[in-house]
Amino acid sequence: MPDFKTIMYRHWCTKCQDWEFFKIEKIVVIDSVPDENAKTKRWVCTECGTEHVDVMLKDIPKEKLAEQRQRYIKSKEEKMIKAYKSFFQSSQQSQMEQFIHMFSEPEIGIEIVEADAGQKYIDEENQRIRTEEREKRIAERNQRLADYAPYRKLGRNDKCLCGSDKKYKKCCQPKFQDLE
Ligand SMILES: [Zn+2]
Ligand SMILES: [Zn+2]
Repeated sequence: MPDFKTIMYRHWCTKCQDWEFFKIEKIVVIDSVPDENAKTKRWVCTECGTEHVDVMLKDIPKEKLAEQRQRYIKSKEEKMIKAYKSFFQSSQQSQMEQFIHMFSEPEIGIEIVEADAGQKYIDEENQRIRTEEREKRIAERNQRLADYAPYRKLGRNDKCLCGSDKKYKKCCQPKFQDLE
Protein backbone atom coordinates (compact mmCIF):
# COMPACT_ATOMS: atom_id res chain seq x y z
CA MET A 1 0.00 0.00 0.00
CA PRO A 2 2.37 2.73 -1.18
CA ASP A 3 -0.35 5.38 -0.73
CA PHE A 4 0.23 5.34 2.97
CA LYS A 5 3.92 5.69 2.75
CA THR A 6 6.22 8.45 1.64
CA ILE A 7 9.18 6.93 -0.08
CA MET A 8 12.33 9.01 -0.01
CA TYR A 9 15.34 8.23 -2.11
CA ARG A 10 18.77 9.53 -1.25
CA HIS A 11 20.47 10.83 -4.36
CA TRP A 12 23.38 13.02 -5.23
CA CYS A 13 22.20 16.59 -5.74
CA THR A 14 24.38 18.49 -8.17
CA LYS A 15 23.33 21.81 -6.62
CA CYS A 16 23.65 20.91 -2.92
CA GLN A 17 26.79 18.89 -3.71
CA ASP A 18 25.63 16.33 -1.20
CA TRP A 19 23.40 13.31 -0.83
CA GLU A 20 19.91 14.70 -0.38
CA PHE A 21 16.48 13.19 -0.18
CA PHE A 22 14.48 13.05 -3.35
CA LYS A 23 10.80 12.46 -3.54
CA ILE A 24 9.36 11.02 -6.68
CA GLU A 25 6.39 12.96 -7.96
CA LYS A 26 3.97 11.96 -10.64
CA ILE A 27 2.74 14.82 -12.78
CA VAL A 28 -0.42 14.41 -14.73
CA VAL A 29 -0.68 16.75 -17.69
CA ILE A 30 -4.23 18.08 -17.41
CA ASP A 31 -4.76 19.66 -20.82
CA SER A 32 -3.97 16.61 -22.86
CA VAL A 33 -5.53 13.26 -23.44
CA PRO A 34 -5.15 11.41 -20.16
CA ASP A 35 -3.12 8.41 -21.14
CA GLU A 36 -0.12 6.67 -19.60
CA ASN A 37 2.28 8.84 -21.59
CA ALA A 38 0.89 11.98 -20.02
CA LYS A 39 2.27 10.93 -16.69
CA THR A 40 5.91 11.75 -16.20
CA LYS A 41 8.05 11.02 -13.23
CA ARG A 42 9.90 13.89 -11.65
CA TRP A 43 12.71 13.69 -9.13
CA VAL A 44 13.02 16.74 -6.92
CA CYS A 45 15.61 17.47 -4.25
CA THR A 46 13.75 18.12 -1.00
CA GLU A 47 16.54 20.46 0.13
CA CYS A 48 16.92 22.86 -2.81
CA GLY A 49 14.13 21.87 -5.18
CA THR A 50 16.46 21.00 -8.03
CA GLU A 51 15.10 18.45 -10.44
CA HIS A 52 17.00 15.26 -10.73
CA VAL A 53 19.42 14.91 -13.59
CA ASP A 54 21.39 11.82 -14.40
CA VAL A 55 24.43 11.99 -12.20
CA MET A 56 27.65 10.30 -13.20
CA LEU A 57 29.42 8.53 -10.35
CA LYS A 58 32.71 10.02 -11.51
CA ASP A 59 31.36 13.49 -10.73
CA ILE A 60 30.84 12.66 -7.05
CA PRO A 61 33.79 13.09 -4.64
CA LYS A 62 35.28 9.72 -3.68
CA GLU A 63 34.76 10.15 0.07
CA LYS A 64 31.10 10.97 -0.56
CA LEU A 65 30.70 7.81 -2.64
CA ALA A 66 32.25 5.74 0.13
CA GLU A 67 29.97 7.42 2.69
CA GLN A 68 26.85 6.59 0.72
CA ARG A 69 28.11 3.07 0.07
CA GLN A 70 28.27 2.54 3.86
CA ARG A 71 24.69 3.78 4.24
CA TYR A 72 23.60 1.43 1.46
CA ILE A 73 25.24 -1.60 3.08
CA LYS A 74 23.72 -0.69 6.47
CA SER A 75 20.23 -0.30 5.03
CA LYS A 76 20.57 -3.68 3.26
CA GLU A 77 21.49 -5.28 6.58
CA GLU A 78 18.57 -3.63 8.36
CA LYS A 79 16.18 -4.87 5.66
CA MET A 80 17.50 -8.40 6.07
CA ILE A 81 17.05 -8.30 9.84
CA LYS A 82 13.53 -6.91 9.46
CA ALA A 83 12.58 -9.61 6.95
CA TYR A 84 14.01 -12.30 9.21
CA LYS A 85 12.14 -10.97 12.25
CA SER A 86 8.80 -10.72 10.43
CA PHE A 87 9.23 -14.25 9.08
CA PHE A 88 9.99 -15.54 12.56
CA GLN A 89 7.04 -13.61 13.98
CA SER A 90 4.54 -14.80 11.37
CA SER A 91 5.56 -18.43 11.82
CA GLN A 92 4.70 -18.08 15.51
CA GLN A 93 1.41 -16.28 14.99
CA SER A 94 -1.70 -18.35 14.82
CA GLN A 95 -3.41 -18.69 11.45
CA MET A 96 -6.30 -16.58 12.71
CA GLU A 97 -3.96 -13.78 13.70
CA GLN A 98 -2.26 -13.90 10.31
CA PHE A 99 -5.66 -13.75 8.61
CA ILE A 100 -6.67 -10.65 10.60
CA HIS A 101 -3.28 -9.08 9.92
CA MET A 102 -3.95 -9.24 6.17
CA PHE A 103 -6.77 -6.74 6.54
CA SER A 104 -5.16 -4.39 9.01
CA GLU A 105 -4.08 -0.93 7.96
CA PRO A 106 -0.59 -0.66 6.62
CA GLU A 107 1.99 1.35 8.53
CA ILE A 108 2.01 5.03 7.84
CA GLY A 109 5.47 6.42 7.65
CA ILE A 110 8.48 7.32 5.64
CA GLU A 111 10.57 4.74 3.92
CA ILE A 112 14.09 5.72 3.00
CA VAL A 113 15.64 4.00 0.02
CA GLU A 114 19.39 4.18 -0.06
CA ALA A 115 21.13 4.22 -3.41
CA ASP A 116 24.04 1.98 -4.17
CA ALA A 117 26.92 4.34 -4.76
CA GLY A 118 28.72 1.83 -6.93
CA GLN A 119 31.32 -0.23 -5.12
CA LYS A 120 32.45 -1.42 -8.57
CA TYR A 121 33.22 2.16 -9.52
CA ILE A 122 35.08 2.81 -6.26
CA ASP A 123 37.16 -0.37 -6.74
CA GLU A 124 37.95 0.44 -10.35
CA GLU A 125 38.90 4.00 -9.48
CA ASN A 126 41.23 2.86 -6.66
CA GLN A 127 42.79 0.28 -8.96
CA ARG A 128 43.33 2.92 -11.65
CA ILE A 129 45.05 5.25 -9.17
CA ARG A 130 47.29 2.47 -7.87
CA THR A 131 48.31 1.45 -11.42
CA GLU A 132 48.98 5.09 -12.35
CA GLU A 133 51.18 5.60 -9.28
CA ARG A 134 53.13 2.41 -9.96
CA GLU A 135 53.70 3.36 -13.59
CA LYS A 136 54.83 6.83 -12.54
CA ARG A 137 57.37 5.37 -10.07
CA ILE A 138 58.75 3.02 -12.75
CA ALA A 139 59.00 5.86 -15.29
CA GLU A 140 60.84 8.07 -12.77
CA ARG A 141 63.29 5.30 -11.94
CA ASN A 142 63.95 4.61 -15.66
CA GLN A 143 64.53 8.31 -16.30
CA ARG A 144 67.10 8.49 -13.50
CA LEU A 145 68.89 5.40 -14.79
CA ALA A 146 69.05 6.98 -18.25
CA ASP A 147 70.37 10.24 -16.76
CA TYR A 148 73.02 8.32 -14.81
CA ALA A 149 74.19 6.13 -17.71
CA PRO A 150 76.81 8.58 -19.14
CA TYR A 151 78.25 9.24 -15.62
CA ARG A 152 78.64 5.55 -14.82
CA LYS A 153 82.18 5.36 -16.27
CA LEU A 154 83.44 8.49 -14.46
CA GLY A 155 85.94 8.29 -11.65
CA ARG A 156 85.35 10.38 -8.52
CA ASN A 157 88.07 12.85 -9.44
CA ASP A 158 87.18 13.14 -13.12
CA LYS A 159 85.76 16.33 -14.46
CA CYS A 160 81.97 16.22 -14.22
CA LEU A 161 80.05 15.73 -17.46
CA CYS A 162 77.46 18.39 -16.75
CA GLY A 163 79.87 21.18 -17.74
CA SER A 164 80.30 22.71 -14.30
CA ASP A 165 84.13 22.36 -14.43
CA LYS A 166 84.03 20.74 -10.98
CA LYS A 167 85.14 17.27 -10.00
CA TYR A 168 82.46 14.62 -10.34
CA LYS A 169 82.54 13.83 -6.60
CA LYS A 170 81.97 17.51 -5.77
CA CYS A 171 79.23 17.92 -8.35
CA CYS A 172 76.73 15.37 -9.65
CA GLN A 173 77.96 12.21 -7.89
CA PRO A 174 75.91 12.65 -4.69
CA LYS A 175 72.61 12.69 -6.55
CA PHE A 176 73.45 9.36 -8.28
CA GLN A 177 74.82 7.71 -5.17
CA ASP A 178 71.89 5.34 -4.73
CA LEU A 179 72.28 4.07 -8.31
CA GLU A 180 76.03 3.32 -8.09
ZN1 LIG B 1 19.62 19.91 -3.64
ZN1 LIG C 1 77.95 17.91 -12.46
